[in-house]
Amino acid sequence: MAVDTHPLQSQLPKLVTRPLVAGRWVDGRPDLPVRDPTTGGCIASVSSATEEDVAAAIAAGHTAERAWRTVPAVERASLCATIADQLQSNSADIATIISSEVGKPLAESVAEVEVSSSFFRWASGQAPRAAGKVLASPSPSLALSTTVSPVGLVLAITPWNFPLAMVARKIAMPLALGCPIILKPSEQAPLAALFLAKLIQDAGLPDGVLSVLPMGPGTATARLLADERVRHVSFTGSATTGKRIHALLAGRSSVGWSAELGGNAPLLVLHDADVERAAAVTAIVKFRNAGQTCVAPNRIIVADSSYERFVEAFSVVVKQTVVGPWRDPAATMGPLKSDERAASVRGHLDDAELKGARIIGGAPCSPVGGQSGRFVDPAIVLDWTPDMLLAQEETFGPVAPICRGKSVGEMVELANMTNYGLAAYVFGSDLGLVTHVVDALEYGVIGVNQLASTFANAPIGGWRGSGSGIESGIEGTDQYLRPKLVATDVGPPLA
Ligand code: NAD
Repeated sequence: MAVDTHPLQSQLPKLVTRPLVAGRWVDGRPDLPVRDPTTGGCIASVSSATEEDVAAAIAAGHTAERAWRTVPAVERASLCATIADQLQSNSADIATIISSEVGKPLAESVAEVEVSSSFFRWASGQAPRAAGKVLASPSPSLALSTTVSPVGLVLAITPWNFPLAMVARKIAMPLALGCPIILKPSEQAPLAALFLAKLIQDAGLPDGVLSVLPMGPGTATARLLADERVRHVSFTGSATTGKRIHALLAGRSSVGWSAELGGNAPLLVLHDADVERAAAVTAIVKFRNAGQTCVAPNRIIVADSSYERFVEAFSVVVKQTVVGPWRDPAATMGPLKSDERAASVRGHLDDAELKGARIIGGAPCSPVGGQSGRFVDPAIVLDWTPDMLLAQEETFGPVAPICRGKSVGEMVELANMTNYGLAAYVFGSDLGLVTHVVDALEYGVIGVNQLASTFANAPIGGWRGSGSGIESGIEGTDQYLRPKLVATDVGPPLA
């Protein structure tokens, strides 16, 4: 009997595993095996884009610019609404794809599909609102106004950890506003992006407006970044890669750049916080996606007087974590994505231990049905200090470091000590104090007494080393629109 080597592909006939270029699913080069981190088994074989595919995608996107921007905004809006509907009606299949390529529990993947749909719905609402202004004029014979035009061809580069939501957040708005897009999803998890591309194509997007090029960094990717016809590069990924790509763009005469980079989120529990509640909600969010989220709290700082109570309450909730394969409905936390990730997390734990921290948990484990060696128990690191790697870098794993803060001033200082500035959290009851702490935190997103941070109608963007530019919200339209000033001689005013 023949062995099915690519089970996901045969289970989901709608899943195309080749590059989409100029409206055609091209052959590419079949060299990207996608593995389920749960078992290490190959679930699909994806073809990566060749240099010829890159050239054809750029040419198609450039050619599509004029036609796509002249499509009435209400029609682009309607297409985005259809895509949002399609995401919701295909939720079960897409969630299976996400869990298969990332390893997160199915319930998390279902939530990811829902939020992805909301990005398209929000973009659909923004498309017809793009508008210029009538400006005050310095003279009665001069009329000043602005119009807004889409910036042109956008290159979108996305990470693996939210393989659908990060793509949706990145492409929905430029698509709605009239920009053609070349999407380069992560080579580690390209399947959800390819499935979405098929839904978008079936919804009626004209050929060439969206090309999807699965591939890793290399010559073909460099060619995309170097081409002057690519007018804006929008990147989500690690701070290191972001810096590297930004440097590569430095030689270009004029190209837009926006970046959503990694974080190292502090979470402050002030002396008057509801400690038990803070511990419970933090423990749940911290270990979502096995801690592999950019906004996961990475440095917990608890007021001295509440430290013991917080650690105890936090430990009780963490103990309830069920580590297991995503197919197990009881599992609340899956494996790390790769052996490299597992080694990096281990490195942070070893470094912390060497520098004097006390570690609870964090050992490798082997749940039934999970065989890859990437499963680890959630770890609590007590008494982290600023010299530890986990205090300076993004750990991106199921590790919760907790330390004491002697005063509010010291807690804020510890919170701001890294160059990251994506998300931060504060728990406290005194509204005045919380307001001052929020004001002092140098972060783009701040959760107060809760940890939700992603909403389609709200702006998200990292400060300092965590990025530049804004996605979602009304502000999320700015990077994709250029204003054009129109100064018109209207002659003398009526007598
Ligand atoms: P990564 O930086 O390794 O890769 C991101 C993307 O960049 C991938 O598609 C990769 O192929 C591509 N890439 C890498 N080198 C490149 C090059 N030289 N030229 C062009 N493309 C290149 O990140 P990752 O491991 O996929 O994702 C995890 C990181 O993403 C974490 O740091 C996480 O915090 C961050 N992230 C940030 C946000 C946010 O909103 N700020 C959201 C999700 C993830």
